[in-house]
Amino acid sequence: MAGRLEEYRRLVEEIKSCRRCELHRYRRNPVPGEGPLDARGMLVGEAPGKVEDETGRPFVGAAGRLLTRLLEETGVGRGNVYITNVLKCRPPGNRDPRPEEVEACSPYLRRQIRIIEPRVVVCLGRHSARLLFSWAGIRWRSMSSMHGRVYDAVLEGLRVKLVATYHPAAALYNPRLRDSLERDFREVIAPLLRGAGGGAGRTLLDFMH
Ligand code: URA
Repeated sequence: MAGRLEEYRRLVEEIKSCRRCELHRYRRNPVPGEGPLDARGMLVGEAPGKVEDETGRPFVGAAGRLLTRLLEETGVGRGNVYITNVLKCRPPGNRDPRPEEVEACSPYLRRQIRIIEPRVVVCLGRHSARLLFSWAGIRWRSMSSMHGRVYDAVLEGLRVKLVATYHPAAALYNPRLRDSLERDFREVIAPLLRGAGGGAGRTLLDFMH
């Protein structure tokens, strides 16, 4: 996309000054996302947690360490995927996102998809899955019945492979979910992400916020 970097910069500036919902009152730092802007794989979590709010980076707390380990151990490499969340600001006390917050924040995720043009989109957790599957017009039933399955989908006019798996934070305290998350990564998600080709590794387009 011509002007990808400019588009992205503009988007990040808008997110930084966003007041579309109440969450701007509580945030220390908004967390737009990070990774190469030409990444072929996009991972979408739920919302920033405490450490993410402190640093402005996605998935850098305990759940993030698990995610990073999975990406490294399966040969994908964290630096080759773009990582973001449904909400760009932390809900107080890490409560669930509210529908009005998801609605207010959704245009940012839609623009990220249009800018990055991923071939593979991975939903981490049910909030992300519910939203992205609804955008794709695929009825979301439950994580237990749909995780680890690859769906051909169209998001923002782009043909993508859409996959959902358990949220790494949920997997931290539940060994059964952790097994499922690890198996989904090993058997389904990592092969897709490797096949899609990473971005160009760490490039100038990285970490533009
Ligand atoms: N959980 C999320 O969903 N996103 C993060 O960035 C961190 C924890």
